[in-house]
Amino acid sequence: MTSQLKDVSSATRSFIERTHHILIDGDWRQPRGQSNDVIDPSTGETISSFNGSSPEDVDDAITAARNAFDHGDWRHMAPAARAKVLWRIADLIEENKQELAELEALDGGKLLGGALNGEAPAAAEAFRYHAGWCTKIEGRTFKPSIPGLDLEGQTRLEPIGVAGLITPWNGALVMGAWKLAPALASGCTLVLKPAENTTLSTLRLGELICEAGVPEGVVNIVIGSGSTVGAILGEDARIDKVSFTGSTRTARSLIEASKGNLKKLSLELGGKSPVLIFDDANLDDAVNGAADGIFSNAGQVCVAGSRILIQKSIYDRVVKGLCDKARSIKVGRTLSSSSQMGPLISAQHRDSVERYVQQGVADGAKLLCGGERVEGPGYFFEPTVLADETTRSCVWSDEVFGPVAVVTPFDDEAHALRLANDSNYGLAASVWTSNTSRAQRLTREIKAGIVWVNCHGIPDMAMPIGGYKQSGWGREHGWKGLEAYLEHKSIMHRID
Ligand code: NAD
Repeated sequence: MTSQLKDVSSATRSFIERTHHILIDGDWRQPRGQSNDVIDPSTGETISSFNGSSPEDVDDAITAARNAFDHGDWRHMAPAARAKVLWRIADLIEENKQELAELEALDGGKLLGGALNGEAPAAAEAFRYHAGWCTKIEGRTFKPSIPGLDLEGQTRLEPIGVAGLITPWNGALVMGAWKLAPALASGCTLVLKPAENTTLSTLRLGELICEAGVPEGVVNIVIGSGSTVGAILGEDARIDKVSFTGSTRTARSLIEASKGNLKKLSLELGGKSPVLIFDDANLDDAVNGAADGIFSNAGQVCVAGSRILIQKSIYDRVVKGLCDKARSIKVGRTLSSSSQMGPLISAQHRDSVERYVQQGVADGAKLLCGGERVEGPGYFFEPTVLADETTRSCVWSDEVFGPVAVVTPFDDEAHALRLANDSNYGLAASVWTSNTSRAQRLTREIKAGIVWVNCHGIPDMAMPIGGYKQSGWGREHGWKGLEAYLEHKSIMHRID
């Protein structure tokens, strides 16, 4: 096994090899919790380590965020001044994008090209988009209708308070940015916790946030396990809101934990998103789009199109196209420019994906291609396609979170719609057709927070995303996403 460390810039290497500290009240401190390894999933090599935050560290971080909110200037600052700081963070992300992308490639298992041209610019864009909102958070005035009284009614929008931000491992940089930017734009203070197996890019982003001039105590970063560090953010009554992206299982424990002070929760959860391909679609585009929809980032994407529904008349042709595509994907290390699909995040996660495939076959699904781990160093798994006409297998119903598609034929539009909505999840869907009336009918009826037509998985900061059913509560992006960090206050003013 040769290390990928030799392939990154000296700045990235020295960041990885240094002792990793956490950000509390503007200071970078040595955390006091348990030691964790940083593993490159492309090689299985331990490339660094860090101590997780202790409960006392988390307590200090929450105290700092609370003080900064209650007694600090951030929420009182002129909105244009806050906007400038957000804009500066975006500039710094762009200036340091090579380093951030290399950290995502080494620690997060992202292909370097995607991290450099996709994730890093998207993180910068999150701050620019929200910089624009800072000066547009406004209430209304109205004339109340109470007889005999001269009254003036007002509504105000205020930051919700201290936010706990918890991110998953499948997009540490960009998902951190998607939470930090609206929290900061609204005037909140916060404690951010990245996933334990992808901490490095968040710590580097924290340094850039300090450099951009965010006041002390406004942004605090703790690291370590979900069951200790993350759970405290859910429980602590000094936190007013938690924004969580991760699994439905963890969301349930956060709902329990947050009962104490009934803190507000935003939950961005899992999915089992359908891709509906009709016989009037451009089939080359549909096959390519469906393959990208499930195999990009090795299927570790919340909106992955993991159930591919295909009209019977084109079923064999599309399935062949998908399998040809799956077999042609070059699986390899994240820093190699020839790799088209990287590894799964950990040995444990690869075991889970492998078990799903085996159980899917035991449940009656037919393996059409892939299905095996790639032997050798790293946690690679073959792009896999299974067929399940009965829709009774676990690969039809459960989120695998790996490069595993299940294909199912349908007769007509009504049948396709029934299959699409046959899920406890409702995060995303895509419809591939040249019939615009059909596309409109289906976008109305599919139970999903986002539906793409003739494309899949394209996010935009102006377009809210979030879940129907067990895919979550609330939305991220757009005004809706910002509003989740705001309280609405009504004011009745008696004039005489
Ligand atoms: P996870 O739920 O295991 O972990 C997510 C985060 O929660 C991590 O930081 C983890 O440390 C923390 N955590 C774990 N237990 C906790 C607890 N008891 N209290 C508080 N925090 C805790 O999820 P994961 O495996 O890291 O991520 C994959 C999941 O995330 C998938 O289900 C995927 O679909 C989902 N996801 C959803 C979106 C979306 O926008 N809807 C985006 C990306 C990922």
